[in-house]
Amino acid sequence: MGRFIYLDNAATTKTAPEVVEAMLPYFTEKFGNPSSVYGFAAANKDVITAQRDIIARALGAKSSEIYFTAGGSESDNWALKATAEAYGHKGKHIITTKIEHHAILHTGEYLESKGFDVTYLDVDEDGVVKLEELKNAIRPDTILISVMYANNEIGTIQPIKEIGAIAHEHGILFHTDAVQAFGQVPINVDECHIDMLSASGHKLNGPKGIGFLYIRTGVKIRSFVHGGAQERKRRAGTENVPGIVGLGTAADRAVKTMEERSARETALRDYMIERVQKEIPYCRLNGHKTDRLPNNANFSFRFIEGESLLIMLDMKGICASSGSACTSGSLDPSHVLLAIGLPHEIAHGSLRLTLSDETTKEDIDYVIDNLKEIVEHLRKMSPLYEDFVKKNS
Ligand SMILES: *Cc1c(COP(=O)(O)O)cnc(C)c1O
Repeated sequence: MGRFIYLDNAATTKTAPEVVEAMLPYFTEKFGNPSSVYGFAAANKDVITAQRDIIARALGAKSSEIYFTAGGSESDNWALKATAEAYGHKGKHIITTKIEHHAILHTGEYLESKGFDVTYLDVDEDGVVKLEELKNAIRPDTILISVMYANNEIGTIQPIKEIGAIAHEHGILFHTDAVQAFGQVPINVDECHIDMLSASGHKLNGPKGIGFLYIRTGVKIRSFVHGGAQERKRRAGTENVPGIVGLGTAADRAVKTMEERSARETALRDYMIERVQKEIPYCRLNGHKTDRLPNNANFSFRFIEGESLLIMLDMKGICASSGSACTSGSLDPSHVLLAIGLPHEIAHGSLRLTLSDETTKEDIDYVIDNLKEIVEHLRKMSPLYEDFVKKNS
């Protein structure tokens, strides 16, 4: 059998076996609706509360501040739209960044169509928000700052504590999309002055289609789904009990293993970065060198088409991701890579490799050995590379 190496853990992760096991009874013998009166079903209420407690503890939050949603996109939509609705009378200005996930960017565009004014901050060449620029963007009518905790493409971790402090100094609410960060780096909502935080199960070895929004007590936020009284009347719908149990179990596992996992993945990541930079010429590491997610590496290779690279890696059994916005079927390079200042042609030749706790050094060696060959092969076929070599020889 050929090899199968999955290095696309920023796109989604494998659901951990213990997570699946914890979920299974809630599909079969414990299937009751938590809103029902009889004990068999009502017991699931306590099960949900227990998961809420686990997540709250992981963030230094209160259990009553955790609202289950159908994932990161819903949490992001909810945070922005409901804040706009509840605080729109105070002002119509929102600040976010150019490198957010589309769940934020497209919600921002939607709010612009509803009469809100959205500022999209630039980032520096490492993908870090410039605090001075943030301060300068604040206006008397600014009601919300939304900056992602860590970027899903280049892995850069933002100075969240400083950003939160700036928001609160000005009496502005602060939301962070922590979908990539939750479970990977320690987060404390009080220390970082966070009012709302989005996270998603499937990015931390939990199931897909479940996530949560942390909403600080006192933040006036409207219901996102109207109907029954679930989630303290803020998000109607019969609870996804198996999903919630999966998310809680995954969060618990992630917190308990974080230190060791992070140290191991950081070492592997740095080994990979070092080998790539040493052995493949005309290559650039994207994102911050040290303030980055433990499992993320993102490279640009000059004279290479990212899509061809992915196809050839796939033929070697390697799952990776490029930096192009292929989600929309367009060939535009990633908005994140453009925001850090890469020219189009270099952004096009980008590759994201994101590790998991199952990734081994042997996997990394296999990937780099193949990557070296593929890059060489693709460059041989590139007229641009041929010209470049001629000019430089
Ligand atoms: C994956 C991701 C999302 C979307 O989460 P879903 O659960 O897939 O909806 C939002 N933001 C970031 C940063 C992500 O990586």
